[in-house]
Amino acid sequence: MSESEDHLFAVYSRSPVEVDHAEGSRLYDRSGREYLDFVQGVATNGLGHANPILIDALTAQAKKVWHVSNIYTIPQQHELASKLCEASFADQVFFTNSGAEAVEAALKLARKYHAFKGHPERIDIIGFKGAFHGRTYAAINAAGNEGYLDGFGPRLPGYVNVSLDDHDAIRAAAEAPTAAAIIVEPVQGEGGARALTDAELHLLRDLCDANGLLLIFDEIQCGMGRTGKLWAHEYSGVIPDVMCLAKALGGGFPIGACLATREAASGMTFGAHGSTFGGNPMAMAVGLAAFGELSKPEMLENVVKVSGYIKQQLEGLKQTYPDMIDEVRGKGLLIGIKLKPNNRDVMTLARDNGLLIAGGGDNCVRMLPALNLTEADAREALERLEKTFIAIREKAQAAAKQTA
Ligand code: PLP
Repeated sequence: MSESEDHLFAVYSRSPVEVDHAEGSRLYDRSGREYLDFVQGVATNGLGHANPILIDALTAQAKKVWHVSNIYTIPQQHELASKLCEASFADQVFFTNSGAEAVEAALKLARKYHAFKGHPERIDIIGFKGAFHGRTYAAINAAGNEGYLDGFGPRLPGYVNVSLDDHDAIRAAAEAPTAAAIIVEPVQGEGGARALTDAELHLLRDLCDANGLLLIFDEIQCGMGRTGKLWAHEYSGVIPDVMCLAKALGGGFPIGACLATREAASGMTFGAHGSTFGGNPMAMAVGLAAFGELSKPEMLENVVKVSGYIKQQLEGLKQTYPDMIDEVRGKGLLIGIKLKPNNRDVMTLARDNGLLIAGGGDNCVRMLPALNLTEADAREALERLEKTFIAIREKAQAAAKQTA
């Protein structure tokens, strides 16, 4: 489609793959060409494409009722909220339509908590370099990525952005009398699949406890089983006060959730927040079905097994192609490959070789496959990645010959 014909905001650099249909880990374009999909709607289709359990849940609900808004009781909201609370530290849930809205709810909750406790001056949200929390004003200010803030006016007051390596700066921000909350992804996604160490997470919890701040974990990308545990923070034993979910929570259907302890949510009283579509019956029906599958022990075991296999194979590829792979990182099936050649070039050539992978900060590509990925599909994806590396080498050699 030429730009003049395109009636969409030009905010994406879209892949030319014209998606026709998809099933499991395979996606097909309109010409019938098959791809292994290791993007899966950016870590969203936790059960892969066209999962029959999700399709049944959605179609059954579509025949009953689509939407009524939150002025009525939606029984499935209570059901999904109680399942999420039973499986986590949380006591209460607010449902949204997206990840950014879940973050928005969490940040509003944090400020409202302090106002409710008689400290309206406590407004500072402390976020980290390399973070991504979505594209609302609050979310871009919390993550502090200059590229996403540029051109949107002055930075909002009450947002402090620090480096995870700068403990003095983190401490100073947390000890400020205006500090309200720390927001962090236990495994940074878009920033390049960087898993925080247990020590880093413990430090943040300790600073929150010592200074009366709320600790918010953004598990929108790394939660819902992606790391091999239902919640990524389970590895460290650090428990947050608030957690944001979205993506795989709906298995590909738009949904988000802000989970909190009763204490943290104490300021979220009648009228404090709301949403027309958040928690609608369709999203809840799919969310319940997705949760039932993703929380099964065998699903989490599969993530551990298949991700272990992929990481081991990638380490092997790193030995064979030291000119391609700099570092393999991430946790579970949130895999980052820090590359030596340009990550965008690798993504394009991988696509030409039938493998879809996502980009990431720090010149990474991310593999975000379905959590029920088979080892056979993983092997095939790695073969396509190796073919891609060979193609890049050949291109570089041909270019070197031409200049010689
Ligand atoms: N937080 C994290 C960690 C994410 O990865 C994303 C999306 O990629 C978001 C927040 C924003 O979610 P959404 O795009 O659904 O608003």
